[in-house]
Amino acid sequence: MKRLPRPILTASQVYDACISGVKDVTILARYKAASKAFEAASLVYEAHASAHSLYQFPACAWGKGEQVILDSLTKADLGELYESYMVNKRYPGRSYYDQLLASAPLGKCPYCGFGQATTVDHFLAKARYPAFSVMPNNLVPACSDCNKGKGSVIVLKDTEASHPYFEDARIEKDAWLFATIAESKPVTATYAFVAPLDWPSDLSLRVKSYFGEFDLADRFAIEAASEMVSVSDYLTALPTQRLRTAHLNLIAQMERGQRTNGWKAALYEALSRSDWYCASGYIHS
Ligand SMILES: [Zn+2]
Repeated sequence: MKRLPRPILTASQVYDACISGVKDVTILARYKAASKAFEAASLVYEAHASAHSLYQFPACAWGKGEQVILDSLTKADLGELYESYMVNKRYPGRSYYDQLLASAPLGKCPYCGFGQATTVDHFLAKARYPAFSVMPNNLVPACSDCNKGKGSVIVLKDTEASHPYFEDARIEKDAWLFATIAESKPVTATYAFVAPLDWPSDLSLRVKSYFGEFDLADRFAIEAASEMVSVSDYLTALPTQRLRTAHLNLIAQMERGQRTNGWKAALYEALSRSDWYCASGYIHS
C-alpha cells in the first residue's frame, strides 16, 4: 500500500461546498443546521483513525435510509450529499472530488499499486458509516476494482485495515510481501503476507486485513502471470543460468528499492531464488 498525505482540505470546506449546491431552502436549512455536528464528527474520525480505532464507530443498519445519523440528517440525506452534490459535475462540491482523485501519485491506486485511481473509495463505507460520506479523511482515491471489491464492510477490532492517510510508515519501509514460485508448468506465483518479526501485533493485523480485503494475493498473481510471459523472452536471450539469476536479482533489488512491497519486487525476488526457474522453468512450454 502506498501511504498518502492527508488531504489538506478541511471537513467544513468540503461540507460547505457540497451543501452550496442544494437549492431547496428547507433541505438546505437542515444541512446547515448539521454543519457543527459534521465538523465535530470529523474531529472524532481523525482521532480514531490516528489511533487505529475506527472500529469503535457503530455501523448503521443496511438500507433504511430514514435512520437519523447527524443532527436531523438521515442516512439518505448524507448519501444524497455525496452522490449528487459531490460527485455530480454540475455542483461546486465536485471540485473537491476531483482534487481528491488527483492526489493519487501518478494516478495510481494506493491500495493495489497498479490500477488507475478513477474512483473515490469511502474508507468507512457510506452504506454503513454515512456520517463520513463527504469527509475528506475518509475519501481515498482508488481504482474501481479495489473500490468495488471491498464492498460495504463493517469494521471490527480485528479486521480494521490499513488506512492510506493514517497507517504506520513501516508498511512501506519493511518487506512483508513475498511470493513463492510453483515449480511446474505453467509457472505460477503465489503471494503471501509475512509479518516482520519486530512488528506489533496490531500493525500486522491491519496489514493482513488490508491484504485480504482487497483480494491482493489473487490479483497480484494475475499480474505476475503476464509479467512472467514477458520476462521469459528476455531470459531466453541470456546464455547461462548465472546470468539469468543475476538479471532477475537486479530487477528484484531495483523493485524493492522503489516500492518495497510491490508485487513485482516480491515476484522477481522469488524468481531469482528459484534454481528451477532460472535453469529451465522460464522456458515457455
Ligand atoms: Zn486498486
